[in-house]
Amino acid sequence: MDFRILDASAFYAGIPFGSANDCYTTSLVYDEIKHIKKKQEVLQTLLETNRLKIRDPDKNSILLAINTSKNTGDYQQLSKQDLSIIALGLDLKGQIITDDFAISNVAKNLGLTISPVMTSGIRDIGKWFHYCPGCGSKPKNGKECPNCGTTLKKKLFKSEPSTNHFNN
Ligand SMILES: [Zn+2]
Repeated sequence: MDFRILDASAFYAGIPFGSANDCYTTSLVYDEIKHIKKKQEVLQTLLETNRLKIRDPDKNSILLAINTSKNTGDYQQLSKQDLSIIALGLDLKGQIITDDFAISNVAKNLGLTISPVMTSGIRDIGKWFHYCPGCGSKPKNGKECPNCGTTLKKKLFKSEPSTNHFNN
């Protein structure tokens, strides 16, 4: 079965309009992208011909996506739409098309396949850590250093992907 799961960045890039593959997305993402005026007719046609399917993920998959994103440190970067796409990837065990770094990182940690829309994609899987460029402390989260008030930066540390894989 050849199909793709699309996040909003894939729709903005026009992927479903030029692809021969069936596409899935969630209703949250569809609600976000259906206002793309130039593409409304195309979207309608794709839906009517069943080449674009809207499907909502299982609640347990959403919870797993949320928990994993909290582990990798990507949670704050992810919208409900983003999380729904990761969860749909878990449900369908399909390839996710996205240019979003946080979606890619969480999905890869879950053992899912990711394809970038336009960029070359991310090669490094890991966990984000906050660190203070002022005093070198490593607070778990927050935007400012609790010691010196400097704005925290984030750095990706490489690690092995989670063992919590979903087998295909
Ligand atoms: Zn500091």
